[in-house]
Amino acid sequence: MNNAVAAYLKDNHDRFLEALTSWLRIPSISMCEERTDDVRRAAAWAQQKLADIGFPLVEMIDTDGHPLVYAEWLDRPGQPTLLIYGHYDVQPVDPLEEWQSPPFEPTVRNGNLYARGAVDDKGQVMLVLAALEAWARAAGGLPVNVKILLEGEEEASGESIDAYVRSHAGRLRADASLICDTSMIGEKHPSLIVGLRGLLYTEITMQGARRDLHSGSFGGVAPNPIHALCLLISRLKGEDGVIRIPELAAAIPPPIEVEKRFWDTDPLELGDLLRREMGVDMLVGEAAFPPLERLGARPTLEVHGIRGGFTDSGAKTVIPALATAKVSMRLPAGVDPDDMFGWLKKAVRHYTPNGYRAEVNELAAGEGMVVSPDDPFIRVAVAALQAAYGVEPVFMREGGSLPAAALLNRVLQIPVLLMGFGLPDDVLYAPNERFSLAQFERDMFTVGDFLGRLRRQA
Ligand SMILES: [Zn+2]
Repeated sequence: MNNAVAAYLKDNHDRFLEALTSWLRIPSISMCEERTDDVRRAAAWAQQKLADIGFPLVEMIDTDGHPLVYAEWLDRPGQPTLLIYGHYDVQPVDPLEEWQSPPFEPTVRNGNLYARGAVDDKGQVMLVLAALEAWARAAGGLPVNVKILLEGEEEASGESIDAYVRSHAGRLRADASLICDTSMIGEKHPSLIVGLRGLLYTEITMQGARRDLHSGSFGGVAPNPIHALCLLISRLKGEDGVIRIPELAAAIPPPIEVEKRFWDTDPLELGDLLRREMGVDMLVGEAAFPPLERLGARPTLEVHGIRGGFTDSGAKTVIPALATAKVSMRLPAGVDPDDMFGWLKKAVRHYTPNGYRAEVNELAAGEGMVVSPDDPFIRVAVAALQAAYGVEPVFMREGGSLPAAALLNRVLQIPVLLMGFGLPDDVLYAPNERFSLAQFERDMFTVGDFLGRLRRQA
């Protein structure tokens, strides 16, 4: 690590923490319409910060939703270009009464900074900004070319960045992208997320008779669509957890060897950790695959809710005419959500019991992504994490989706490095979100070191 950069980070640590605190005071909740001005203020804060660091080009880009902030500093010919993504919007804060200190009054307790956005994502963006400032001020400039794109809709629709990236792929061209918006699996185990699953979210409607019926008058001959829906669902995914859609089974790419070894051995006993976290006696799912593979690289099919018939208190003997179920699938990277929708519709036709009509509607879809652990940029991230933590990072696949990561990966055709520094109990979406100050302090060095390691030797 460059000594001058390291010294600058150390000397200015308190100032970086103060800067983060002032950013966290802005309640930039993108989902709340009445916070629109605050979201914009948080964008303006980032814009000013990037200008202060010395970025020669900084813009706030208006969109149909919340603004994007874009900056670039491209004075290192022959060096790689890194596109850094982050977001300045935050989750809502309900239930407010469960916060020990108000969500927009950042407070330090027990070595953690508590505030909405502390770790997701303002705190992690601040690490990157600190590292960039240190290079700019203490080392005479950035070691590589840098583009930064910050959005304000990550916790809302994300539509603006989607449209912008698609229409400005040339401007955003880069060799790799860095995103610090994920968590490590434990404070001693740095992690690189090398895969994200895609998503297909549908609603299945089952139709029986043309109107609701009385079970006394029609029971025994009337179709019951709630029952048919349950049969259909259990045929799509049986008791063994296996999804019975042959086209899907054939489309799942084979696992990458280094990942497969980690899944098979599970040296950190993450499967057991998950079991305890859920408070259950055993993990369910496909017995032929270890828990970590099921979690990151296998498809899922989940029912989120079933609606139909009578659910109020009391006894009403209706046989409903209609029933619906919300059914989603997490898809291994490489499985196209559009293809999946076609296969699911075909399977629903096949498995629907006789005497019923089923219809499948798509509500949402998104692609996954996978980056090879052998990618040269991943190797640089591995080296930086190993230097910072003294152990090799773990390659993980995240079950959830990070739309911007898949978007940049797909549209720009570049590896996306998901190098995040949150800790498992930072409670991103719940009250008392926090960021460990030890992580904040250490990982501005990690990112600074990573930037230096990206520089190609002449
Ligand atoms: Zn985030």
